[in-house]
Amino acid sequence: THFGFETVAEAEKEARVAGVFSNVATSYDTMNDFMSLGIHRLWKDYFVRSINPGSSSSSPPSSGWKMLDIAGGTGDIAFRLLDHCTNINNSPSSTITISDINPDMLAEGRKRSLSTSYAHSPRLSFLLANAEDLHTVPSNSIDLYTVAFGIRNFTNKDAALREAYRVLKPGGLFACLEFSGVTNPLLDAVYKRWSFGAIPLIGQLVAGDRASYQYLVESIEEFPKQEEFRNMIQTAGFVVPGKGWEDLTAGIAAIHKGIKP
Ligand code: SAM
Repeated sequence: THFGFETVAEAEKEARVAGVFSNVATSYDTMNDFMSLGIHRLWKDYFVRSINPGSSSSSPPSSGWKMLDIAGGTGDIAFRLLDHCTNINNSPSSTITISDINPDMLAEGRKRSLSTSYAHSPRLSFLLANAEDLHTVPSNSIDLYTVAFGIRNFTNKDAALREAYRVLKPGGLFACLEFSGVTNPLLDAVYKRWSFGAIPLIGQLVAGDRASYQYLVESIEEFPKQEEFRNMIQTAGFVVPGKGWEDLTAGIAAIHKGIKP
């Protein structure tokens, strides 16, 4: 960290994560499709619909939403958010910054943006940053903070949640899509076999990289389950709507939300 207190273990985790995502950057979307049988697309679509970005709740409403997609990698969430603002909520002034710690993932997003209608658009910007330290983003400046399949890779998740809280405006929304705890024991057994058995193998065959995909599976297993993560969001200062999360596909993934009071 910028305080120089990073432990060797933390530095190792950061380096490991960096290596994984540099390795998988170009094959990332194909692999996502393989690993989730295409379901990640439906989850992402639903995630964005549930947020309803660009609706008239921004302040002032005419300026559109100022959005920040953290661990935005290849832009998968960001392009959907912009599309929703434009097509559903008639909010062509809403903007988004795609932020990621990994220059290779960010480059992949930039490349992909060129084949969307947001190529070179002033509505889209890129920021190379660690989610745990967003010092270039002013406090109270963001309407929507999203992080999809990213936070489980962060070394210090609480620090990232505190930064999310800091950069959001009062009334701003934190929304996270992440793998979570499967609620049905039978499905959980099938899922564990799939993830620990098939995913590293598919990684080896399709991307020529078993170790990176082994890491991805382990990081899913280690990430806090629904309630514990909800509590972490509350500890960072957010007010959570309802019970604080919504399960997708029996909890294989979950959406957590928090509002900055
Ligand atoms: N959001 C995209 C999606 O849903 O397809 C990409 C998710 S990808 C699995 C995880 C991303 O998290 C990678 O691009 C990785 O570089 C990024 N990442 C890992 N640690 C990070 C950190 N500390 N700060 C910001 N991004 C990080």
